[in-house]
Amino acid sequence: MTDLTDLGVKAIRDGVAGGEFTAREVAEAFNAAVAGAGELNAFIVATPDHALAAADAVDADRAAGKPLGAMAGVPIGMKDLFATKGVQTTAASHILEGFTPEYESTVSHNLWSAGAGMLGKLNLDQFAMGSSNETSFFGNVNSPWRKQGSNAALAPGGSSGGSSAAVSARIAPAATGTDTGGSIRQPAAFTGISGIKPTYGRCSRWGVVAFASSLDQAGPMARSVDDCAIMLGAMAGFDAKDSTSLDLPVPDWAGSLDANLAGKKVGIPREYRMEGTDPEILDSWERGKAWLRDAGAEVVDIALPHTKYALPAYYIIAPAEASSNLARYDGVRYGLRDLPDGAGLQDMYAATRAEGFGDEVKRRILIGTYVLSAGFYDAYYNQAQKIRTLIARDFEQAWAQCDVILAPTTPTASFPLGDKLDDPLAMYLNDVFAVPASLAGLPAMSVPAMLNGEGLPLGLQLIGKPFDEQGVLNAGLAIEQRAGFDARPEKWW
Ligand code: GLN
Repeated sequence: MTDLTDLGVKAIRDGVAGGEFTAREVAEAFNAAVAGAGELNAFIVATPDHALAAADAVDADRAAGKPLGAMAGVPIGMKDLFATKGVQTTAASHILEGFTPEYESTVSHNLWSAGAGMLGKLNLDQFAMGSSNETSFFGNVNSPWRKQGSNAALAPGGSSGGSSAAVSARIAPAATGTDTGGSIRQPAAFTGISGIKPTYGRCSRWGVVAFASSLDQAGPMARSVDDCAIMLGAMAGFDAKDSTSLDLPVPDWAGSLDANLAGKKVGIPREYRMEGTDPEILDSWERGKAWLRDAGAEVVDIALPHTKYALPAYYIIAPAEASSNLARYDGVRYGLRDLPDGAGLQDMYAATRAEGFGDEVKRRILIGTYVLSAGFYDAYYNQAQKIRTLIARDFEQAWAQCDVILAPTTPTASFPLGDKLDDPLAMYLNDVFAVPASLAGLPAMSVPAMLNGEGLPLGLQLIGKPFDEQGVLNAGLAIEQRAGFDARPEKWW
């Protein structure tokens, strides 16, 4: 029999439904893979019993002839930003250590209702702030990938670094991610997997630990476009508990996948061709254009003139919203409480927050508080909001000329752990191609394109019109079929 851990979402679901193997066998295989991969540090906690219980329920339903859900029998990794009832939920921060929610996030609830089980809670950058998964209180995640001829530990990307490491190492067939400014797409690109951030509002934010609420969006990370489409369909949907939830039906993305792009126009934004961009990244972009032409699309040049302001605007808006969202961690309501002897309430707040938040989180709170303070609000926050509008308008104008946009996902391949940790600006620059679509709330996906000369994956990004996840997935599929990317990391863990 094939190794069950080599299978993706669709193969597992169809195999379970067809009686080739049981959901319990699948859950046991992945539970064992998770238990054997401690060196990756991809999981903060493993939940093998959750995966087994969900599998047994699916096997029982099948035996009883009941209909099976879209994710039936598929055990997944859950980013530890989603509240899971009865299972510790930390956002990878000391301040939430030991916090066990009494409720389930809507997205995880939807996945369990579709028949998925949970292998465990995945490591991430603390409060999803970071691009390398090095800001986690629970230690960095090690990418399963290594450069040819080197044993140096590499970043799996961030903030969904546990998700990307687990899926690329095949200790989970798929995982949830969240993307505020690239945190699904950048780690997917670094590890040779696929991931899609849907249109803002498609997936409920209810029960997702908030970072920057006007940007936060959940999405799937998996090893194929088809698997992403299936899982996104299970995650998405209107939710009255999220005031920004889209009240739209969820299309049958997986059932409508079509890699024939005849009649479609693919836009190439000239501003993404930045000075000093790695020639191999540019090479992957050229290949992407050729693949999409081969799929029948016409490739056209477009302009997104305000692109260069996206990163500075993001790094004002996201910290501003974060500083407000994170005010709730005060030692009273959740997790950690540091109450020094004889201390008053203010002292407790200060001591709890000083001890509980990591350095990057503190940096964001400081920046966010500053840009929102009276006197600076207009100069920074208001200005950034205006830029955000201009960036959204750039895209609106582009849609007059094209149906989907093709760009690199990242300016570099994965970098060694520690490389950018002391240089926040260098770290932030890694988000340069990801952030514009986030600011505009657009669906965007990364698919693996090729290996670079050092044997590391490079991803291509597809950005779509609002609500057009289908167009993004279809173009992603066209690339997937032509790129023939089947590289996988050599097992060292
Ligand atoms: N790397 C970006 C940041 O640090 C994006 C994070 C995210 O999308 N959650 O803010």
